[in-house]
Amino acid sequence: METWQRHLQASITGPGKITRPFGVDPGPLEEVAERYPMRVPPYYLGLIKEVGDPIWKQAVPDLLELQDSICLDDPLEEENQSPVPNLVHRYPDRVLFLVSSECAMYCRFCTRKRKVGGEDMRITGETIDAGIDYISQHPEIRDVIVSGGDPLLLSDEKLDSILSRLRAIPHVQIIRIGSRVPVVLPMRITSALVRVLRKHHPLFLNTHFNHPDEITEQAAKACARLADAGIPLGNQTVLMRDINDDPLVMKLLMQKLLAIRVRPYYIYQADLVQGTDHFRTSVEEGLDVIRGLRGHTSGMAVPAFVIDAPGGGGKIPLLPDYLQSLGSEVILKNYLGETYSYVNAASKAEKELIKKVVNENG
Ligand SMILES: *Cc1c(COP(=O)(O)O)cnc(C)c1O
Ligand code: SF4
Repeated sequence: METWQRHLQASITGPGKITRPFGVDPGPLEEVAERYPMRVPPYYLGLIKEVGDPIWKQAVPDLLELQDSICLDDPLEEENQSPVPNLVHRYPDRVLFLVSSECAMYCRFCTRKRKVGGEDMRITGETIDAGIDYISQHPEIRDVIVSGGDPLLLSDEKLDSILSRLRAIPHVQIIRIGSRVPVVLPMRITSALVRVLRKHHPLFLNTHFNHPDEITEQAAKACARLADAGIPLGNQTVLMRDINDDPLVMKLLMQKLLAIRVRPYYIYQADLVQGTDHFRTSVEEGLDVIRGLRGHTSGMAVPAFVIDAPGGGGKIPLLPDYLQSLGSEVILKNYLGETYSYVNAASKAEKELIKKVVNENG
């Protein structure tokens, strides 16, 4: 067994072992962990400083998960847009391909809380074959997002085989891996794994840091290994109450990500997922986070803020109101709130129309 597998095996899977050292009664939390699986690797557990801190909140079950709310099991209607099991084809030229039902940690806020780590997410050799068949029969698919669960919990051999089969499809231009392993189980990023990944370029990896305390020396080393293998790294953060809903915390996170060669890609408004309502912030707070980034720090540190539209409408970007009005004069507000004006030019269609009128009259 590899070191990372041994580490994963030592994960805490019930509330008792995690809450007792912190003096919290685990009793009521057992029911939560029965409904939604719990798993926290010792490494991530070690990042907790105190009860209820941003690391704790992401890892430890909370009674609030059982609260009724307007939230849904599958708000993004992934199941409706699945032509074959575990593959979501929502956009014209790319698909989301779920190849693992397991994660190193079961994040309390997970969008796929309804299925990851549970019985309902059945990923088998057959579903993987069916996904690869579907992709090979659809030449419009030029981008495959390999996700789960966490694809990096598969063995090197399994992952190599899936990536090789995708690479053998001529129309698949790029492959993206979505993985939280660099954050919660960085020892999984072994040199052997990186040797496998680098065979399948152009390959991108998007990871998922939510708080500056997650950027440790070990996480940095994992990201450095991937970046050194020529894998461009991106990050997707979920905006969450009392975790990162503070513009200064988010700025620090984005800056620290760039320092470990991870480019912020998205900040998500929290999805309407059953069992995660207590993590949701208002959309205005998300816009405040973006306002706190743009202009105040490197543009490279500013991701897109998006809402993944309920009902499967896809990711919709939101921007604070920098554009005040749009006409022959464009009124703009900069990051300090100062107003500027830009003289607009005629569009190509307008110019052609003018030319036509002049020709007709001349
Ligand atoms: C997020 C997502 C994608 C990828 O979207 P990008 O904006 O290209 O990163 C593709 N398919 C599904 C179903 C998604 O949820
Ligand atoms: S690693 Fe990702 S898929 Fe797995 S539980 Fe966490 S958020 Fe969900």
